[in-house]
Amino acid sequence: MTTNLPLFRRRSAVSQYARQKLAALDMNQWRRDMQRFENLNLHRKFLQVEGRQDLYSWLYSPMFSDFDLRRQFSLDDQQTLMPTRDELVEILRRLGKVTQEDELNCGACGYDTCREHAVAIYKGLAEIEMCLPYSIEQLRKAVKELDISHSRLAEAQQALIQSEKLASMGQLAAGVAHEVNNPLGVVLMYAHILLDECPTDSKLFTDLKLIVDQADRCKKIVANLLDFARQNRVVLMPTDVREIADAALRSLPPPDGVTAHATHEIEDPVAELDKDQISQVVTNLISNAYAAMEAGGGALTVSTSGDATHVRFVVADTGCGIPQENLHKVFEPFFTTKKMGKGTGLGLAVTYGIVKMHRGDIQVKSNADASAGPTGTTVTVTLPRLPQPG
Ligand code: SF4
Repeated sequence: MTTNLPLFRRRSAVSQYARQKLAALDMNQWRRDMQRFENLNLHRKFLQVEGRQDLYSWLYSPMFSDFDLRRQFSLDDQQTLMPTRDELVEILRRLGKVTQEDELNCGACGYDTCREHAVAIYKGLAEIEMCLPYSIEQLRKAVKELDISHSRLAEAQQALIQSEKLASMGQLAAGVAHEVNNPLGVVLMYAHILLDECPTDSKLFTDLKLIVDQADRCKKIVANLLDFARQNRVVLMPTDVREIADAALRSLPPPDGVTAHATHEIEDPVAELDKDQISQVVTNLISNAYAAMEAGGGALTVSTSGDATHVRFVVADTGCGIPQENLHKVFEPFFTTKKMGKGTGLGLAVTYGIVKMHRGDIQVKSNADASAGPTGTTVTVTLPRLPQPG
């Protein structure tokens, strides 16, 4: 069996083997054996002197041939050469000693200087890990990497919990919306018929108009809930994402004190998307951004970018931001931080549903704490360029 272990380890293995053999050796048996071999050689000498050629030959017969204790030795140079300057520099570099100042010469490795340790490594008598500062640095790196992996795992776990929560909310919303949809349709139909038959100047007409308006509002809410629950169909067609961003900005004039502009860093702006639904997504995000800047003014940027497989919208505002404790709730239906009557709380839920229907991803980063830096919110929507298998 061959091994690629360093010389240092191989020597240690041989010593260990020898120690084990010695520990298991029966010294009395060994002495008896040695006595026997010694006697055999004496017998041979005696028989030779006595001229007992017959017995002498018998003792040299094949039966005793294994007892020839003669040994031969040949030269096998085990001398290890010294490393060249470049080899030494390379070993020192692996030890993290690039400059003269890095060579601490602390002696913790058992060698007086870093260079002596490097020479011993070259000869296979020492290992890099024997350098204490090096090992500490490696451990520090490992801890840092573990820390990053742990944070990523925690984030992924949190995202999974959140998406499961939203999925079960979507199921509930879809169930309610389907149940409400049919009776609501009947209410709307009869309200419209009655409205058509009623004279416009009567008191009844005003009441019926109110019923029709409110029932229409309910119908929109139900449609939004179905969007959130991903129950509506996606009609994919070649869509220019730059046009969507520009059109959404044109359709929503910014409030006083707010500036808005678009930037396009995308080479191929066309992707297979449901144009109406994605327009609704960008409009919802711009509308939310304006609401966040209404009081104090600010700037809105809508950017488009992409690569070979995905397109991206980034809607960034410098508004009041979303408090950290609310960030995980923003996609929940009916969650809103706007004042009563200012929003249904379905805008981001619908946005989330549409993005998920496109098998895309939506991320929100926000800071509402002015002491921690500039406040504002950035929403990134990433969508696949081509339809994804369901
Ligand atoms: S432990 Fe490291 S820093 Fe200290 S002398 Fe050995 S090689 Fe140099």
